[in-house]
Amino acid sequence: MTQRHMMGLDPEPRTTVDNRVWFGQKLALWRSKVGWEIAERQASEIVARCQHMTGCPAESVETETCLADCPDREFRMSALVILNAARGFTPPVASKISGQLYTMPSREYFSAVVAELAACQAELAALRAAGAKAEPPPNPPSLQEKT
Ligand SMILES: [Zn+2]
Repeated sequence: MTQRHMMGLDPEPRTTVDNRVWFGQKLALWRSKVGWEIAERQASEIVARCQHMTGCPAESVETETCLADCPDREFRMSALVILNAARGFTPPVASKISGQLYTMPSREYFSAVVAELAACQAELAALRAAGAKAEPPPNPPSLQEKT
């Protein structure tokens, strides 16, 4: 670490990303937001539907704990865990990208994907072959000294 770097004078490193990957990440962010919003809404409904004993402080205040005799005490605790996770992890901003430009995969990218698929198939075939004879051979080959 140099003094220049510590003071933030070095230029910020940049990462170039393919448009296909960039739009995929935006879409994943939007999906995450939609999913967490659904989880938050449903968890809130469960918390609101929980039954309480008379005089339970948790009936009106979310942060209060239930009385020991409340019938839905455990359900409420689980729903509150989901609710707080949803509140904490929902992306603040994620707009749905519609009508984005379609970018044809490049010839190199397509070849790389096909090659990866072929490698996976070969690996799968090797695993299947290994699985077919799971038992060790009766006479394992022993090491022999080279003469
Ligand atoms: Zn309660």
